[in-house]
This record gives sequence, C-alpha cells and structure tokens, in this order.
Amino acid sequence: MRIDIMTLFPDAIDAMMSQSIIGRAQAKGLVTIRTHQIREFTTNKQMQVDDYPYGGGRGAVMQADPLFRCWEHICQEVGKRVHTIYLSPCGRVFTQEVAKELKASFDELILVCGHYEGVDERFLEECVDEEISMGDFVLTGGEIPAMAVTDCLCRMVPGVLPEEACYTEESHWNHLLEYPQYSRPEEWHGRKVPAVLLSGHHGNVADWRQKESYKRTMTRRPDLFALFDEKQLTTNHDRKILSQAKEEYAAEQAAPPSSKT
Ligand code: SAM
Repeated sequence: MRIDIMTLFPDAIDAMMSQSIIGRAQAKGLVTIRTHQIREFTTNKQMQVDDYPYGGGRGAVMQADPLFRCWEHICQEVGKRVHTIYLSPCGRVFTQEVAKELKASFDELILVCGHYEGVDERFLEECVDEEISMGDFVLTGGEIPAMAVTDCLCRMVPGVLPEEACYTEESHWNHLLEYPQYSRPEEWHGRKVPAVLLSGHHGNVADWRQKESYKRTMTRRPDLFALFDEKQLTTNHDRKILSQAKEEYAAEQAAPPSSKT
C-alpha cells in the first residue's frame, strides 16, 4: 500500500511514521508513506500557500493552485489519478468499517491535510474524491487525522502485524470492544488478576474474554452492540456465552449503584 500525504508539516508526520510498527513496515517495504511539502508547489518567492477568504472574515484559506500542483505531481509520480481524501471536520466520520472499505478498495491513496480555515472549495471539487473526519470536533490541522488514517490502514496490510488475528481480534473489528487485559504481577495494589486467566484452561479463558467483550460493549457502547450480528454465532456454545453475558449485564444493571464496580 502507498499513501501520499500533502501537508505543510512533513517533518512532523515523517517523525511519527518512522517509529515502531509502521516504521518497521516501511523499512521492510510493506508500505510506502510519502509526505509532500505543499509550499514547494507555490510559484511566489515567499512560498505562501494561503490568502484572505473572499467575503471577509477571520483567518486564511489554503489556495487551490499550490494544492493542485502538489496533487498533480503525486498523480504523475504514481502514474494515475489516485483516490484522494481531504481530512475535514465536514467529512464522514472515520471508523474501522471505513478503514476496511478503503483498504479493500485502494492500493494507493492521497491524503490532504488542511490548515488555517481550510481549503479553497474549488480544489476539493476538482481533485478530492471524499472527505473524512476524525470526529465531531475541530483540530488545527489535518496532520493528526492523516496519521491516524495511515496507521489504521497500514496495520491491516499483510505482514505489518505478526498475524491477521492481531487486528481482527481487536476492538471495533466486529462491532465489539475488547475484553480487559492484564499482565504481571498477579496482584497489584490489592487488585487481583481474574482467576480464570491464571487457570491455564484455554477454553475457559476464551469464553471469559468473549463474555467480557460482550458485557463491556453492552455497558459502554450500546449503540455499537446494536450493530453486532448475533446470527454469526453458529454454535450452541457461542450462543450460550452471549446469553450468559446478557444475564450478567442485566444483573449488574439491576444492582443498586453502591454495589456496582
Ligand atoms: N474552518 C473549518 C471548519 O470549521 O470546518 C476548520 C478548519 S481546521 C481549523 C483546519 C484543518 O484541520 C482542516 O482543514 C482539516 O484538514 C483539519 N481538521 C480539523 N478538524 C478535523 C477533524 N475533526 N477531522 C479531520 N480533519 C480535521
């Protein structure tokens, strides 16, 4: 997978994307992440990329022309018109489902990071295929969203993580949140690791984790749990774990607040 990021702050993105798992994936050639300084595509001496908004008002707007030149340069380098995403608070909200869809549909992507008040609409109309938002809040620039999208897509590329289960068994893959995790020591500040996790019984551990995942999702994200398709549970055992989770969840909800943990 190749991702080209158009930005005013390439160094910040390069510094982060060269670290840890994504950095190693790039070093192994599994993914290519290229940043492009939009200022290099200006035609004025000051390398100015922004100007006053027509109609007045505060702030500055990123001009269409340097963005277009930068975008055209990347498309020429890749050898085709590349699917282009503008990171924007006005876009559809990014989720694991959106990430799966993008990963399945495109081997190359261009991500455009806005700054200031945003980007001249005419560039968006001409070059951008879709807008993606990190959520219902506003950041100062598109760099953090672009890194989030890049990281999320790259970790699904075969070989980046040791095995597929490393991302398919995580929160949000299946509209569920992950179960609680524990590491050594067995007791910390008087808090014990659940006994089943020390039992060495793999079946019981798997059942406990599945049940806790259902309960946590029901409690914290009922909206997400409503999307979980129970029909995918094909065995009586799997259905039993879900009904146990529902019973335990209902009992916890019915308990007086003082006894809730
Ligand atoms: N004036 C814009 C508005 O009200 O919609 C906000 C501009 S914001 C200060 C500057 C840039 O940050 C945007 O062009 C966009 O690239 C990025 N940005 C801010 N919030 C974002 C979000 N929630 N998701 C994705 N990108 C965001």
